[in-house]
Amino acid sequence: MTTDKDQLIIGWLYPNLMSTYGDRGNTICLRQRAQWRGYNVTVMPLDQQTSAADIHKVDIIVGGGAQDRQQEIVMRDLSGAKAQALREKIEAGTPGVFTCGSPQLLGHYYEPAIGQRIEGLGLLDFVSKHPGIDARRCIGNVVFEVTASRLGQDLSKMLGTAPLVIGFENHGGRTYLGKVEALGRVIKGFGNNGEDGTEGAFYKNAIATYSHGPLLPKNPFIADWLIQTALAEKYQTPISLSPLDDALATQARVAMFKRLGIVT
Ligand code: GLN
Repeated sequence: MTTDKDQLIIGWLYPNLMSTYGDRGNTICLRQRAQWRGYNVTVMPLDQQTSAADIHKVDIIVGGGAQDRQQEIVMRDLSGAKAQALREKIEAGTPGVFTCGSPQLLGHYYEPAIGQRIEGLGLLDFVSKHPGIDARRCIGNVVFEVTASRLGQDLSKMLGTAPLVIGFENHGGRTYLGKVEALGRVIKGFGNNGEDGTEGAFYKNAIATYSHGPLLPKNPFIADWLIQTALAEKYQTPISLSPLDDALATQARVAMFKRLGIVT
């Protein structure tokens, strides 16, 4: 039997417009890992039909990658009360994972390869710019260490080792951080811009990253951190999740680290 304390609502930003790069795997992974622990999970699309009040109901927010054109459509819709609701949720500590196109929308602006600058929510202190259609895209496997202080400490504790993340990036835009903390330090790949060694950003409990993969099935400890943080925020009590058998995910990670010449 489920009680009020067993409910988890995952809000999924624009599933029809922002699932170009397989990031729906993050939603599936979160749902499944919470269900395995006995939680009753609802996945709520946050899209054109959603009201600001709906956004306030969610416990975790997931946003995937998109192409420039879809990002424009999303930003036209994600304005006014809805934009404000999303800002308030993130500021209040609702955890979230935002990949590639969606973090570009949480920053100050995104300059697409062609066309007008797209204004972002201005919540995370960074800007993103596409250098143009002739510029090299940042594509390939990416490995980074989570260095964002609080998250890095939590993940190290969960893993008993340095929190190494493996994923796959595919972006034209380059992100330049202002005062916001980077999510990690690039070990292999491009990260935010291929120049300064930073990858992603971490703000309150929001994880912004260029890493697809999808991210969470390849790095299930981040999924558990999100679930744990969401439940602790919701029920205002510390939560410890029962362990799962992640042997296959671990084997896949070891194989990829080996292939990429990363010593763990
Ligand atoms: N449109 C963005 C870019 O090319 C985002 C791509 C993505 O989400 N993978 O930078």
